[in-house]
Amino acid sequence: ATPMSVMVGVGRAAEYGVLIRNAEAMQLAANIDTVVVDKTGTLTEGKPQVTTIHAYDTDESQLLQLAASLERGSEHPLADAICQAASERSLALSVQSDFEALPGYGVAGNVEGQRVLLGNQKLMTQHQIDIAAAVKDVQTIAEQGATPIYIAIGDQLGGLLGVSDPLRSDSVAAIERLHQMGLNVVMLTGDTEITANAIARQAGIDTVIASVLPDGKAAKVAELQQQGKRVAMVGDGINDAPALAQAEVGIAMGSGSDVAIESAQLTLIRHSLHGVADALQLCGATLKNMK
Ligand code: ADP
Ligand code: MG
Repeated sequence: ATPMSVMVGVGRAAEYGVLIRNAEAMQLAANIDTVVVDKTGTLTEGKPQVTTIHAYDTDESQLLQLAASLERGSEHPLADAICQAASERSLALSVQSDFEALPGYGVAGNVEGQRVLLGNQKLMTQHQIDIAAAVKDVQTIAEQGATPIYIAIGDQLGGLLGVSDPLRSDSVAAIERLHQMGLNVVMLTGDTEITANAIARQAGIDTVIASVLPDGKAAKVAELQQQGKRVAMVGDGINDAPALAQAEVGIAMGSGSDVAIESAQLTLIRHSLHGVADALQLCGATLKNMK
């Protein structure tokens, strides 16, 4: 690799909105065979919206009011969606206390003297909440590719929300490009299996690793590497950073967290998976020119 051709390659990549950390990163990127993509904010728009409300005891407004009162303590994109839905309905939020963020599970706290738990099935199982009443509604929500969020009030299931985060409009075409380049594409997500599979089907991805805890993503990348795969990991969140660092090539989406960008070898200015195809193609072409 002559320094001159690397510099030219780095310059060309920049024109495509791809920032390459160094020559070594370019070399590694040219030899990738597997692209692992985070779901939320990478494949999807990352602007989830509440699309379904099921209140089992209370009414819908009361349920949403309670959920938003708790979630205003959280910075998770799902929390934003719930707070926005409450604000669209002009619901006045209550004071909460003892708030706890439970990464990979949800949130917990007290609202108006009631203990409220909000999150996924793992969280409900952990606290022995009976979710039988929600099974059918959960199935419907998840099969549409939306995320089911359970709300327990005290030790009873109070309701269920469906939050939908659609694919980016160009994700399908970008995935197809990666496949045409001969690359395996794998989705890695903390979301539940059925939801992840539905989104993967829409995106044209056939390998899904779902229900992964935030600190388990790097281990999943390492497993693929142990199988002999050379992995590029694409993500944008703070909790993607260790997985970006573990991969041969970490690729951060530009509008992502600073931590993700610091852990990555490549940064994409545009928030599009086409940037991944551009980056891998350019790195491959640059190295080929040098041989
Ligand atoms: P991702 O891989 O999509 O970034 P996370 O690890 O952030 O996933 O979250 C995994 C799952 O944990 C979510 O799909 C959701 O079910 C649950 N969860 C985490 N934080 C929250 C929250 N603040 N509100 C509701 N659910 C949450
Ligand atoms: Mg994420």
